[in-house]
Amino acid sequence: MSNIFRRDFLKTSAAVIAAAAAGGPLAGCAKKSGRTVRKDGKMVMKVTPIELKMRHTFTISGFSRDVTPSILVSITYDGVTGYGEGGLPPYMIGQTHETVQKFLSKVDMSQFSDPFRLDDILTYVDRIEEGFTCAKSAIDIALHDLIGKLLGVPIWQWFGYTASKSPNTSYTIGIDTEEVVRQKTKEAAPYNLVKVKLGIDEVTDKKLIETVRSVTGKPLLVDANQGWKTKESALDMIHWLSECGVLMIEQPMPKTVFDDMAWITERSPLPTFADESCQRLRDVPRLHGVFNGINIKLIKCSGLYEARKMIAAAEALGMKTMVGCTTETSCAVSAAAQLSPQMDFADLDGNLLIANDRFDGMKIVDGKITLNDRPGIGVVPLKTEN
Ligand code: MG
Repeated sequence: MSNIFRRDFLKTSAAVIAAAAAGGPLAGCAKKSGRTVRKDGKMVMKVTPIELKMRHTFTISGFSRDVTPSILVSITYDGVTGYGEGGLPPYMIGQTHETVQKFLSKVDMSQFSDPFRLDDILTYVDRIEEGFTCAKSAIDIALHDLIGKLLGVPIWQWFGYTASKSPNTSYTIGIDTEEVVRQKTKEAAPYNLVKVKLGIDEVTDKKLIETVRSVTGKPLLVDANQGWKTKESALDMIHWLSECGVLMIEQPMPKTVFDDMAWITERSPLPTFADESCQRLRDVPRLHGVFNGINIKLIKCSGLYEARKMIAAAEALGMKTMVGCTTETSCAVSAAAQLSPQMDFADLDGNLLIANDRFDGMKIVDGKITLNDRPGIGVVPLKTEN
């Protein structure tokens, strides 16, 4: 997009965001349980730091790890407990258990006596301090889970979605040796979509795709994680990938490179998706014309409440949507899955990449996200302390 066009566009962006918000992300809710919900109780929040063990050492462009910290939040109200979580991948968030716990210690939920006041509560939490979207998301998810349980409805249903419209999830393969990539591609057999992390250099990237292709002919998603250096070489690579059965390309260039990215998108044979370039609602309008779509992750955008506004904004702008996650338990992944019926792509495999899940939740059946009918985000804690 040219600078002049982008400037004109930004004038209308506030109106798009206002329209998205006015539509109301949480319209319509039926009280199915017949349970009388108190509106004068106290909410008690509990915070638990946990460490998730990776099944394989996970490498993407620039980073490698065996464990990922995460933070669990539970909110109990009127004898009912809602669960939430925010993963803390070091390369994405820059937060630790300590910094996040310090932020959460500033949250005073006792001032609210009604968990249904999501807008008031989440606006208060958001304004405590800039950033900490992972911790804010954990609170947002716990509140949604609590509300769903109090009403006796799954959150996807409360949102008005049709569960059967959930897409296939992709299964992610990190950057690794040929032998490990081949092995991981074999492990991806139950999935219908494989996501390949690229972004090293042209020779290595092409070799990775060829290695994956030596095992499977399934459609691929590609995530370059900002790794490509020039618009010309990125476009050449995208053309090559489009001939290899790749369906879309995520974040080819560094997150603040907009003009070159718009140049690529204009010429790209594959839809381009913003991940690192797209954090919160305010980013969506300025990505129009730069990318074809956005990858929404709850830990980036502060949770389901804002994610729904981002979906509405993207739809108003004619952009595609994708929901992703990080290395998290079935708690945060099941929360993100509540949005999946509305999305073009879903990359919800974070719980499958860990060896010590803490929850039973959303399942992948024949490669497809399969939402259950449990109230809230549909999770049950597992009796394990590993
Ligand atoms: Mg990504």
